[in-house]
Amino acid sequence: MSIGRGVFRGHWITLRRFLLTFARDVRDGLALRRRGGGPLPVDLFRGPAPGQERVVVQDERTDGLFTVEYPDERLPVYERFRMLPVLIYDDEDGNVRCTSCNICAKVCPPQCIWMVQAKSPKGTVVPLSEEFFIDMDVCMNCGLCAEYCPFDAIKMDHNFELANAERHQTHVFDQRDLLVSSAYYAQTHPEAWASPEETTERAKVARKKDQRLRKALGARTGA
Ligand code: SF4
Ligand code: SF4
Repeated sequence: MSIGRGVFRGHWITLRRFLLTFARDVRDGLALRRRGGGPLPVDLFRGPAPGQERVVVQDERTDGLFTVEYPDERLPVYERFRMLPVLIYDDEDGNVRCTSCNICAKVCPPQCIWMVQAKSPKGTVVPLSEEFFIDMDVCMNCGLCAEYCPFDAIKMDHNFELANAERHQTHVFDQRDLLVSSAYYAQTHPEAWASPEETTERAKVARKKDQRLRKALGARTGA
């Protein structure tokens, strides 16, 4: 076959596929439906709010595979999706819940958490973390640290857009990178936040908080 015929044939196959797909969509009443479901006119006139990407889902009328045009579109992130851990501080008073007890570091299978516990001027340990690190390249997103934390201080986050051009130092997250507010967690995990287990856990931790902070600040000032 000459080169010219091959090019023509390739174009014909593509055109035929395009026409067949289009005809099938018209026949099945899908012509005004967008990939992933939802009426197309709504998309044309009412796009996502500024700064937000369109979330697409495969509904029951979507036939076969469809392409998500990430990053302009994205699949919904479900509440139980786990990416990296974050450390929680309370909105009302800025209290960082972590006591630097080291339990999360001990249970972490790939050993990618490490921390420095705060010390008083006398050298005694204080239930606060001076520094806290997680190597995001090593974390395998298992969630064990969050399961075992007795102070409700470390939770799994949804943010997966963490790539950058530097592959070493900036992939070790420190306390500043890891801290998020309790309001942020409540917003990203509404079901877990409202669950009886977490409500009870929060109340338990809050009851012990004053005692812990008094101890920590007393030790820090050498009182
Ligand atoms: S995050 Fe929880 S388990 Fe880990 S050191 Fe802090 S208080 Fe302990
Ligand atoms: S999610 Fe798993 S691997 Fe990642 S820091 Fe927590 S325990 Fe370690």
